[in-house]
Amino acid sequence: MEPSLVARVGELDDALMPSRLATSPVAYVPTMGALHAGHAALLHSARTLGDVVVTSIFVNPTQFGPGEDLETYPRTLEADLAMCSRENVDIVFLPSVETVYPNGFGGVTVDPGPRGSVLEGATRPGHFRGVLTVLAKLMAMVRPSHAVLGEKDYQQLVLVRSMVRDLCMPIEVVGVPTVRDKDGLALSSRNRFLDDRQRQRAQAVSAALFAGRKAEQQGPDAVSEAAWCVLDATDGLDVDYLAVTDPELGAPGPGAARLLLAAGVERTRLIDNVALTLGPRGGA
Ligand code: AMP
Repeated sequence: MEPSLVARVGELDDALMPSRLATSPVAYVPTMGALHAGHAALLHSARTLGDVVVTSIFVNPTQFGPGEDLETYPRTLEADLAMCSRENVDIVFLPSVETVYPNGFGGVTVDPGPRGSVLEGATRPGHFRGVLTVLAKLMAMVRPSHAVLGEKDYQQLVLVRSMVRDLCMPIEVVGVPTVRDKDGLALSSRNRFLDDRQRQRAQAVSAALFAGRKAEQQGPDAVSEAAWCVLDATDGLDVDYLAVTDPELGAPGPGAARLLLAAGVERTRLIDNVALTLGPRGGA
């Protein structure tokens, strides 16, 4: 069946009324469109969680900083709807800016707390305030039982989990592993801006993460060193940060951890991360 396309909250309420009355699970995948196989993995996972699957396509102005790519962010609605149809999405929510921000951009926002101003947040001030604010609004409109997000945007996933917990939202947040191209590059809507030469450079991002992960038994310093070896050997890569953290973005210790990296290839900003299991600091 073709998904229902809805733009207004009233239409969304009408479409969701039967599942709300039956209290059946509603799985929700928020996106900014330009959908690719990474989004498809989220939709697929949502299909296993919800009786009803809702996705939204909304390019959120408040998470873009001045000089960022809000105007040029790819918009591919026709192809997006074809993917939603293939993935058996029930409802595609396509709200206008006025629907999401009826009183403009100056109103109440969600403060992400201290973890919103490190890593991505250090380079993109206000980014996570914009992300959490729009997700709080969209989740208030959809009222899902499950929200499905990608590990690709790991800091975002951690912050959304915190928001849901700290603001007592009755939603289960489900993280889905990153989908990659054969060459290791994490799929991203922005990859389409890379030409062949830039794409070759971009491969160093995942290659550095994989090299770092190989050193996980030797502890966090060895992980960073191994990753930097790859990055230093690559021309034309402007590294913003490389960080080893615990799974909650704090200081790493032995056990579960995360390696996160952001780098620019000319005008295209790439972010990626991998899970680690760290051995003892400086250990064999
Ligand atoms: P976006 O449309 O870029 O805002 O992303 C919407 C959702 O898709 C977010 O939860 C992302 O983390 C997720 N996502 C983006 N790229 C990937 C990928 N390569 N693998 C898995 N999830 C992804």
